Amino acid sequence: MYDIIIKNGQVIDGSGAKAFAADVAIKDGKIAKIGSLGSESAEKVIDAAGKYVTPGFIDMHCHADLTAMLCPDMEGLLGQGITTGFTGHCGMTMAPAGRYFIGMLEDVKAFEEIMPLMTYGKGPGSYPAADTETLRKAFKKRFGVDMDWTTFGDFRERLRRDGLGINMYMEVGHAEIRMDAMGFDYKRFATQEEIDVMKKHVIEAMESGATGLSFGLDYAPGMFASFDELCQLAECLKPYNGILAAHTRSRGKDPNTGEDAHPIDGMKELMEIGLKHGLHVHISHIQPGFSAVPFDQKMLDASAEKSLEIINEYRAKGLHVTWDVLVPEYIPWFFFPDLAGIVKYYVACCGGKKAFAEKLKSPAYQFEIAEAIKNNKNPSFGRFNENYPILRCKNKSYEGKTIKEIADEMGKEPVYAMFEILLQDMDTRYKQNRLGSGKHTNVYNQAEEACMGLDNCGYDYDFEGELPDMPVDYSTPTSYCGMITFIEKRKDFPFEETIRKMTGNAAVALGVKDRGFIREGLVADVLVLDKDNLRSNEDFTDPRHKPDGVDIVIVNGKLAVENGVHTHVRAGKIAHGLEMK
Ligand SMILES: [Zn+2]
Repeated sequence: MYDIIIKNGQVIDGSGAKAFAADVAIKDGKIAKIGSLGSESAEKVIDAAGKYVTPGFIDMHCHADLTAMLCPDMEGLLGQGITTGFTGHCGMTMAPAGRYFIGMLEDVKAFEEIMPLMTYGKGPGSYPAADTETLRKAFKKRFGVDMDWTTFGDFRERLRRDGLGINMYMEVGHAEIRMDAMGFDYKRFATQEEIDVMKKHVIEAMESGATGLSFGLDYAPGMFASFDELCQLAECLKPYNGILAAHTRSRGKDPNTGEDAHPIDGMKELMEIGLKHGLHVHISHIQPGFSAVPFDQKMLDASAEKSLEIINEYRAKGLHVTWDVLVPEYIPWFFFPDLAGIVKYYVACCGGKKAFAEKLKSPAYQFEIAEAIKNNKNPSFGRFNENYPILRCKNKSYEGKTIKEIADEMGKEPVYAMFEILLQDMDTRYKQNRLGSGKHTNVYNQAEEACMGLDNCGYDYDFEGELPDMPVDYSTPTSYCGMITFIEKRKDFPFEETIRKMTGNAAVALGVKDRGFIREGLVADVLVLDKDNLRSNEDFTDPRHKPDGVDIVIVNGKLAVENGVHTHVRAGKIAHGLEMK
């Protein structure tokens, strides 16, 4: 007697091998048998006729640890078939929460309570920070959640206690470690004493089950670290076989040399650390190593190919190096479907949309904002682009047109046309460009070894993030359907190859032996996909929608999604290193 039998499906095992007809039996959280199970019985029999049975998707660039205590059910990730996240990237984690805490992604919203204009006026590279005690109160007020952890171990235990919808391999982030050691005085190299404090944190995290350590070398405070600091911290991973992952340095000045940073040098910096200390290093959301200015697709593709060549040269020297690439259609986490989000800073200065609408009637105020936008001095996070189309507005004649087109009709400059649109409807929705557009290359996601990441947090469908009367700041469509959008856009590739990049390849890159494939004896993270009816349902006015066609999601042998409906079992586990204990 099995727990679950999935009958009559086409099995895609995650290795890239061709789909084959077989039944799959699950017992005690494992894949117990694959084959013809006609006469066998199970507590639950699922008919997958005409459908595919695949491993659960592994999101290799997942920031769900940052929302795990807010949305432990992780509906948005499970709903698109993600059963496992490799998390804690880019130096950004919720632990340790030492003397000071720097806000990174979703947690930044808690800072709106204590330093609103800072959070509306700063983007990547410079995040709001506060003493942790003050933040704890703000976090409680904003989210109703106690930040009751200090160490990485506390945080991991908290997640285990609350339960989680997906499995998580979680790194500890350099940023919070550095904040505890250096406080606000972080725009410099650390002293040896401070590095010693950081080392203690890394060791505590590794002892408590971290999978590795992550650097975010384009972001404060990690970007100010010396090569020596990075090496000393990396060295702490060795006894634990920990992974060293990095958002590698790609812009600004390298503080070690004082020279302009180039993406390929950033990758080399990480690989040199890996070579020096004999570590597995992982390049997060890999980018083209050389810039192609002015933009030229062929040059950009050549740049990616050359970067892979250089990575292979390091492999030849004995380095264990892996990388992930973001799904090319991804949308970064800052996402304002409200057109007013482009001027969020000014809306915040006015105290909300209503007051902003009043003030915007003044030509002098319009001039002030327009000049800031034109001179690249708009302190808001959102960027103005005249090619953004309007999706929803009280003035229906604007819908479907770009700001530029509307501006031409009005005989106004695009920025002033935007003001006019906002004056007619402060809740106008628009579509942001995808970040990747313009600098994306398919070289990476088509590479044999590619594994995919979303670079988003995990949410539940009813999670509301924004303050009243402020531009709505939802998580992006990628948080709900990025993997399915990726599949949709790869219709010309063998389905088995696409699935492999989202499953088996990820497990291999991570070094996980017990999941990522449909094989007897492995953990039962299993999907039933109705390929003919897969639809991402990507919605730019309100992204909180489930894709179609992800019929069954099984996590550790338990049904997490049944016929597209969430069961809220929280069957995920938090890894200890690379093991699930
Ligand atoms: Zn990053």
